[in-house]
Amino acid sequence: MAGRVRGPAVAELEIDLEAIAANYALLCERARPAAVAAVVKADAYGLGLAPVATRLSAAGCQRFLVARLDEGVALRRLLHEAEIFLLDGVGRGEEETVFGHRLVPVLNHGGELELWAGYARSLGQRLTAAIHLDTGMNRLGFSEAAFGRLTAERLEPLILRLVMSHLACAEEPEHPLNAIQLERFATATAQLGEVPRSLAASSGIFLGAEYRFDLCRPGVALYGVNPVPGRPNPMRPVVRLTAPVLQLHEIEAPGTVGYGATCPVRPGMRIATVPVGYADGLLRSASNRATARIAGIEVPFAGRVSMDLIGLDVTAVPREAVAPGTPVELLGGPDGVDRFAAQAGTIGYEVLTRLGHRFRRRYLGGGDRR
Ligand SMILES: *Cc1c(COP(=O)(O)O)cnc(C)c1O
Repeated sequence: MAGRVRGPAVAELEIDLEAIAANYALLCERARPAAVAAVVKADAYGLGLAPVATRLSAAGCQRFLVARLDEGVALRRLLHEAEIFLLDGVGRGEEETVFGHRLVPVLNHGGELELWAGYARSLGQRLTAAIHLDTGMNRLGFSEAAFGRLTAERLEPLILRLVMSHLACAEEPEHPLNAIQLERFATATAQLGEVPRSLAASSGIFLGAEYRFDLCRPGVALYGVNPVPGRPNPMRPVVRLTAPVLQLHEIEAPGTVGYGATCPVRPGMRIATVPVGYADGLLRSASNRATARIAGIEVPFAGRVSMDLIGLDVTAVPREAVAPGTPVELLGGPDGVDRFAAQAGTIGYEVLTRLGHRFRRRYLGGGDRR
């Protein structure tokens, strides 16, 4: 091991709330005249529900979507006025909690609709709801036929706040399913009158005006991931992950790095060990494939990602620029998350939602300015 006593071995995840607010503003501009709701499911894609939702609310966002009931309950405690949609809908036994927290369930099938309508009747009042129409993803939502059978009488106990569908291939503008889903959605919902309609998530906003309807529902683009893969990222970067070098090895004899001995090294190479691993969300599939940066120089992952550690080949970094304690940028810059995701064989969504909780988390720009 070379040299000096190391500094504190602390990885830091910086989350730029100002950038999230700026991304919200940019998406609002692109979506206009449609409104924009923020998707904050899965702890705001791993970045922290409370700071993210509070900042978005301060930026003027009034509608939010979460997946699970407990996410909706947590969000209601933070935001008293916001309209909060539950993508998972309402299950038996959950009616009171949904109603008590003024959450709007997205009804995905007839049984769920009957449950919520029945609860409304038992209360003697109409209840807000949204309806999900499946236009080709075969994941959630009423089939077009079942949607067509929704009579005024069945809907009477409900105040419909939204009819929505979800695109399967929005990040591939040329994919034929986009136009098919658009056509199905437009046709099936043509008779709805005043009920707001929503089809586009992050990438859908960029498919063209006809995809935007009344409300867009971006998630990942708010958090800096590129909604238009293959083109320059219009979003501001939100996360930056850095960690200090823990130990530096001057390789003196031929050998290998890490578990499984998958990465050969020869004398003259230098390997830096950094205290982040797959338990922190640096996916093991990034082994021997991903890159990080030291002093702006790209350094390849050397060997397998361990639970708590990775090795980096820092041979290309000038000797004086790397020592124990030197900061390494693991995620950062305009395409940081997307680049790491591609290297690890996954998508930015998974990289964000896997980010662990052992980092020191630092939020930038958390004020309540508009
Ligand atoms: C997650 C989700 C979104 C947000 O998608 P992004 O691609 O992150 O913008 C929107 N709508 C539905 C139904 C979702 O499940």
